[in-house]
Amino acid sequence: MNEQEKLQYIVDFIFKDLKLSEADIINKYPKRNLMDGARVTRFAPSPTGFIHIGGIYSAMLDERLAHQTGGIFYLRIEDTDKKREVEGAVDMIVKAINRFGLNIDEGFDINGNQVGDYGPYLQSERKAIYQVFVKKLLLAGRAYVCFATQAELEQIVKTQTDNNELIGYRKNWAIWRNKSLDEVIEKLKQNQPLVIRFKSEGDFNNKIKFIDQVKGEVELSDNELDTVIMKSDGLPTYHFAHVIDDHLMQTTDVVRGDEWLASVPIHLQLFKALDFEIPRFYHISPIEKMDEGSRRKLSKRKDPEASVEFYYEQGYPVKAIKEYLMNLASSNYEDWKRQNPDKKLEDFQIDFSKLKISGSLFDIEKLNFFSKEYIANMSSDGVYNYVLGWAKAYDQNLFNLLFNNKDYAHQIFNIEREGSGKKRKDIIKWSDAHKEIYYFFDEEFAKINIDINLITPLSRDDAKVVVESFINSYSELDDLDTWFTKIKIIAKNLGLAESLKEYKNNPSNYKGYVADIAKVLRLAITGQTQSPDLYQVMQVLGKDRIINRLNNFINLLN
Ligand code: GLU
Repeated sequence: MNEQEKLQYIVDFIFKDLKLSEADIINKYPKRNLMDGARVTRFAPSPTGFIHIGGIYSAMLDERLAHQTGGIFYLRIEDTDKKREVEGAVDMIVKAINRFGLNIDEGFDINGNQVGDYGPYLQSERKAIYQVFVKKLLLAGRAYVCFATQAELEQIVKTQTDNNELIGYRKNWAIWRNKSLDEVIEKLKQNQPLVIRFKSEGDFNNKIKFIDQVKGEVELSDNELDTVIMKSDGLPTYHFAHVIDDHLMQTTDVVRGDEWLASVPIHLQLFKALDFEIPRFYHISPIEKMDEGSRRKLSKRKDPEASVEFYYEQGYPVKAIKEYLMNLASSNYEDWKRQNPDKKLEDFQIDFSKLKISGSLFDIEKLNFFSKEYIANMSSDGVYNYVLGWAKAYDQNLFNLLFNNKDYAHQIFNIEREGSGKKRKDIIKWSDAHKEIYYFFDEEFAKINIDINLITPLSRDDAKVVVESFINSYSELDDLDTWFTKIKIIAKNLGLAESLKEYKNNPSNYKGYVADIAKVLRLAITGQTQSPDLYQVMQVLGKDRIINRLNNFINLLN
């Protein structure tokens, strides 16, 4: 055999089961028919069972970039690392994408079935495709077979460390890079485990420059490592799969975490060796948080808020989370929203040339702000349905209350909402709903231990007078003014000021002011000293419940 025949023999040996050809692949991936300027983006998570909020953040940017330009946004599951894979993870990813309303054009439907003409969208189903290109690089002399053992690799690293050399399988250290084809054939015949490595032509001492859409011009040392492109299980590494898939699926813009920035030199070499066009890159910084005075990235291990599960459990509406993330990406989003309160998130145009360069700080208060605003603007119907949905998964007791008392629950949620001229802002997330509504239900109200001491500055005797007078004068038909006038009269009779202003002018003249009367009534009726508008709360509770609770309160005072 001459050298070319030996190489062919090696390739045929390794890929004996490979039926696919490059021509088949080219036929299967025709050029996409897109308008000028339309971008193709992808969300490419690994199915590890953990969906990081940063993943949703970058997927949202992908989605916006594609759809802002009339392009395509697709989902690709990167499952080439079988050791890290978790069962059911693909389903979780698909559900999260749907839940966050990240409209994917290709990838997977809600049932997990693949959709789209540029698939498969599950990398493990693309093994043959990668192998066609691995084979091509081998035949072109741009890749080689490597049988280095774990022990040999460790020894190389050790010697390099001892000699203060750059670490890695490269140049003369790459023991299989220049082995004869006869030696390769010999090992093949012994069925030794092998990997395929890319033969790098780069030199670490050379600098390469490229434009990153987020970071600007980036200068890095070139890559001189002979990176593994096909692992011993026949699957590609991330680097290789990225280059092949983003080429075949015609991704124009790659948005990904900046932990991949350092690998760009490898990727550029692979794109060039395969004669593929290079996409635009956006390396986005991770979401960070303050920890004991310094910034660090949100950690999967330490921070519950790193996982989307946290937001599900807490019951943050996804639209509010998206608004918050949009605000992290574009600092002008909040102003825009203020000026365009009725527009949808999707109407906002992200300026991709102005994405934040350094890490954004996660700020729960800001998230709470967006969430509170969002919920304050919802109809009671909307709130009811969302809380019901949340309670179904996380609070069975609340679910039963809401489900069995639909009309009543609607009235409760409508306090300070539609038609009231007010905006109720006591619910930040659905898990807050319970504490805002439980006291409306007698069986829940009965569980509350009312703290009588909260009646101060009034004495028990005064509080009793307040409650008794209120019972005597109360009519369900009273409008707000009449109701309030009656409370003011009680205040006056007991020696309290009828307004805060009056009280402040002469505090020593009064035992308190009218709010202290309302406080006693609120405590008696709701079991707490804070609630939405007391008049409206009473309207919803109805006379029987009110009188009953007031009488019980008198017993407590006795
Ligand atoms: N599977 C890679 C990851 O989860 C995706 C990186 C990319 O978007 O290219 O980090």
